[in-house]
Amino acid sequence: MKPTFHHRPVNGPFEDPCLYVRLLREKRALMFDSGEISRLSAGDILKVTDVFVSHTHIDHFIGFDSLLRMLLRREQPLRVYGPSNIIDCVEGKLRGYTWNLIEECPLRIEVFGIDGDAIRHSSFYAENSFKKVRRQDRPFHGIVLEADSFKVKAASLRHDIQCLGYSLEEDMHINIDKAALSGMGLPVGPWIGDLKRAIREEAPEDKEFQAGQKTLKLRELKRAVIITKGQKLSYVMDASPDEENIKKIIELVRGSDTLYSEAYFLEADRQRAVQRNHLTAKISGRIAKEAGVKDLVVMHFSPKYRDTPDAPVIEAMEEFRRF
Ligand SMILES: [Zn+2]
Ligand SMILES: [Zn+2]
Repeated sequence: MKPTFHHRPVNGPFEDPCLYVRLLREKRALMFDSGEISRLSAGDILKVTDVFVSHTHIDHFIGFDSLLRMLLRREQPLRVYGPSNIIDCVEGKLRGYTWNLIEECPLRIEVFGIDGDAIRHSSFYAENSFKKVRRQDRPFHGIVLEADSFKVKAASLRHDIQCLGYSLEEDMHINIDKAALSGMGLPVGPWIGDLKRAIREEAPEDKEFQAGQKTLKLRELKRAVIITKGQKLSYVMDASPDEENIKKIIELVRGSDTLYSEAYFLEADRQRAVQRNHLTAKISGRIAKEAGVKDLVVMHFSPKYRDTPDAPVIEAMEEFRRF
């Protein structure tokens, strides 16, 4: 099956972080962090419906202005997710410009901040000059966005300030093996929708289904079902190299097809990594290995390694591929 998510870092590892993810079956894209985005085409930017910001240090958020500039005349709303201060930061950016004569612009921005066990929500609409309107909070249980075919989870990490790590998980694909179905003497019908839902919701194995004239248990029906795991991507940027963070990250990124991770410092500069609240390349490799990640992509390197740009990659990969 073709992958659903096409993903690529927008910039090189010494430049601002931004991961662009196209959803191939839908005409839309997601963005993880919004550092410098001038390399994205207008067409790329116009597809962005959701931006997941790790934290609002300038290198991760400066692209928001370009995004705003490009999306002003777009009908589709823009959703922005981030740590607890994201609503203030978006409001601050919007307050930095003068907004008369834009009432006819359709852009609506919905901003969601993860604050402990709550998701705070505020709206900023061009039609009322981007004045902040507070919305109802929602409880936060690890999921920031639940879409029809995928979900995005977040974990709060320590980077002196709060920094969010994200995972993007496609739902499993459930296909019916028509030959197996007719071999069992079962008709196609609306009950198949119920069966798929039950599998998705992990219903008990002895749950019964009425298929035509027959009553069968979920356990028996699973013989006619082909389940394929969905794609999983993770994005983890600035995080202190402490064990509590590492444990949280491993849990978040477990089983990812691809993990995008910072590798800001080398292990030789561990003291600096602790002071500056960043992971080392070796720790990124260890996280990917312990979490059973298939592919590790390291990015966001300190400028001090510009003369040895392969060093963070080599260090991370040595640890990741260690037996
Ligand atoms: Zn930072
Ligand atoms: Zn950073």
